[in-house]
Amino acid sequence: MLELLFLLLPFAAASGWYAAYYHINYSSPDKRNDFNREYLLGLNYLLNEQADKAVDTFIKILEVDTETVETHLALGVLFRRRGEIDRAIRLHQNLIARPQLPKPQKIQALLALGQDYYYGGLLDRAERLFFEIANNEENEYSKVALRYLLEIYQQQKRWGIAIEQAKKISKWEPLIFKNIAHYYCELALSQLKANIVTKEIIELLDKALKYDPRCVRANLLKGELAIKAGKWEQAIQNYQAIKKQDPDYIAETLEPLSQCYLQRESGQTELLNYLYATLSEYSKISICLAIVKLIQENDREKALNFLTQQLQASPSLYGLYHLVDLHCRESHFSHTNNDNEGENNLAILKTLIAKLMKNKPVYRCSRCGFNSKILDWFCPACRNWSTIKPDRL
Ligand SMILES: [Zn+2]
Repeated sequence: MLELLFLLLPFAAASGWYAAYYHINYSSPDKRNDFNREYLLGLNYLLNEQADKAVDTFIKILEVDTETVETHLALGVLFRRRGEIDRAIRLHQNLIARPQLPKPQKIQALLALGQDYYYGGLLDRAERLFFEIANNEENEYSKVALRYLLEIYQQQKRWGIAIEQAKKISKWEPLIFKNIAHYYCELALSQLKANIVTKEIIELLDKALKYDPRCVRANLLKGELAIKAGKWEQAIQNYQAIKKQDPDYIAETLEPLSQCYLQRESGQTELLNYLYATLSEYSKISICLAIVKLIQENDREKALNFLTQQLQASPSLYGLYHLVDLHCRESHFSHTNNDNEGENNLAILKTLIAKLMKNKPVYRCSRCGFNSKILDWFCPACRNWSTIKPDRL
């Protein structure tokens, strides 16, 4: 793609030449000749991959006529995309230094310079420029600048100011509410470092749910806090709410839910009822396995039949592993001398399935396919929130 873009450089230069030439055509013949000579020289440097000299030459032409600004901006973008940040910076700084540059084009050049700094890792300088543009009158450039500012605040984990900027962006981009909810969760987490559950932390998580009622992370955190405080009923409510928010995360709730239910006297039966009810709504292998775990304690055969039936309806490698594991246990408990070979075969099968599972991701980004071993709420590949979800379950 970059190669293709760089191939377009001479065309970008040529279009700028045309614009400027058209303008200069009505100027004096001397000026026109000078312009032609300089432009062709610049183009020649470019084609001979002498980009430094080409930039100098194009900058010189700019002094003759500002009609070529668009071309210079296009060249700057191409340099930046090729990773030649220094050249892009020099080009944009020279543009900005032109006193005769009209205001809209100056803002465009400032934005481009901010982007050079941003991609060059000079975040302080980038932030200053984006801030200046974002606080100017509201237009397409200030919107882009605000988006970059938000990216910087996210990278630097400055969640408070990120919330303020995102609220401004929400006027034209309502999907940003999802990000705001995560920023509140991040604020809650930073306060949690002291390991004390306070009213303020709960309030932050409630704000997350106010901005995005489907914020699973907020309910997972609230459930965790309720468990820490021994508020089992509260925790059950938090975890149960998640299946309505996004059933893809049900697997994350089963372990803590089981812990909470088992605090009650008739907890096991209630948990089992909840799991059967949830399974009738959402056919997921994680729910089947949670049921198997409960019933196998009293009735191994029932557990085996249940899992076999479920896997016949919707096969899963992870489920198959547990089915073979159940058969191994069954074979071990009802052990006779003749069963040795069968038991060994089951053990080999279990090892093979485990090897196949090892290469499967535990979590995967639903947007870009990024694989992860942990539940990360922010995808580092496509830079989206809440797109990484449990994959196996
Ligand atoms: Zn992604």
